[in-house]
Amino acid sequence: MHRMRALSCFVTCFAAALLFSNNGSGDDIAERARKLHFSSLVLDTHDDTTQRFFSKDYDLGKRNPDGHVDIPRMREGGINAIFFSTWIDGRTLGPSAVQKAMDQIDAVHENVGKYSKDLVLARTAEEVRRARAQGKIAVLMGLEGGHMIGLDIRVLRMFGALGVRYMTLTHFYNNEWADSSTDKPAHNGLTDFGKAVVREMNRQGILVDISHVSDKTFYDALEVSKAPLIASHSSCRSISNHPDQMINDLAAKGGVIQINYEKSFLDQAYNDAYDKAVGGVTAMDNSIIKMCGDDTECASRETAKRERLLTEQGKLPHVSWERIVEHIDHVVKLVGPDHVGLGSDFDGASMPDGMEDCSKLPKITEALLRKGYSEDNIRKILGLNLLRVMEQAERVAHEVQVGK
Ligand SMILES: [Zn+2]
Repeated sequence: MHRMRALSCFVTCFAAALLFSNNGSGDDIAERARKLHFSSLVLDTHDDTTQRFFSKDYDLGKRNPDGHVDIPRMREGGINAIFFSTWIDGRTLGPSAVQKAMDQIDAVHENVGKYSKDLVLARTAEEVRRARAQGKIAVLMGLEGGHMIGLDIRVLRMFGALGVRYMTLTHFYNNEWADSSTDKPAHNGLTDFGKAVVREMNRQGILVDISHVSDKTFYDALEVSKAPLIASHSSCRSISNHPDQMINDLAAKGGVIQINYEKSFLDQAYNDAYDKAVGGVTAMDNSIIKMCGDDTECASRETAKRERLLTEQGKLPHVSWERIVEHIDHVVKLVGPDHVGLGSDFDGASMPDGMEDCSKLPKITEALLRKGYSEDNIRKILGLNLLRVMEQAERVAHEVQVGK
């Protein structure tokens, strides 16, 4: 299935590449795309930039020579809203997980304060729209892994009060109450406590994020949640071995899948080669943690270095940014244009050729336009779909709180 799809995309992408080269960048479509992109609300649901805030070599306000995200490059890429993700290793549990998550949430608040001319914290869809009207970038927060609530539902509430707007139920490992897709099943999906977590998320208007979770966890969450679910940074293959069925079920309840740009998620051949070269994503993760410990700058440097080396040795194939468009198109063909968006995984994943950082984002708009997408549908994909889900979650929270 995947190989056939990849082949047909190759033909389409090749045709698109010819169009690009024939017309140059000054043609009508390029100009329309530019106008459309910079007048749209462009929202990215997953960026691991938060961990860079702790490095003395990184400055969110300046153009950095490495990494994928900073204010100048967000401006260049036309990003109006960004979810900075809080992430710590999934094997850190209890109070220490809570403390480390708090450190990162604080760092987001501090950076928003420091760069308040450009950034403003947003908690609701309305606040995202308002930020855009003021010419500011809305900063939202996501928590990548339920292990960070330390098995205490009151902590989840406090995170919500501090502005966390989605929580990924698990990361690479199972936590005390939910199974991950990259661990051996231990709870058969969500435990009773896990279901209570989902209900509390509904009550707080925190989006339930099913990126990284096992299939059973996904279906349990889908059943329990009164609000639509999101996959904050998944691609068509990465959420499951039966991705199309899950995308159908996610969409049927109004949810969205936000496409991840990680090469191994975009391209099956790359993924297989990567598994062969390093022994799978958790093996790579373990070896990097052994070397770098808590130093995430070291981890991302080391990951990039190893990957560059493997690509130079011909052990990993090149992957083009056009694969992102292919994945978006696949979801649209499956469930229509209302259930897909952008969840790059910038600063947390290795980017395909041509999507070196967030300044390259307008290329996606142009490619969709060239594929014949309507401007309305492109605006939905760029950000309005996710805002719609936020509004629905806010309505559910209100209804639950007033006891409807
Ligand atoms: Zn992730």
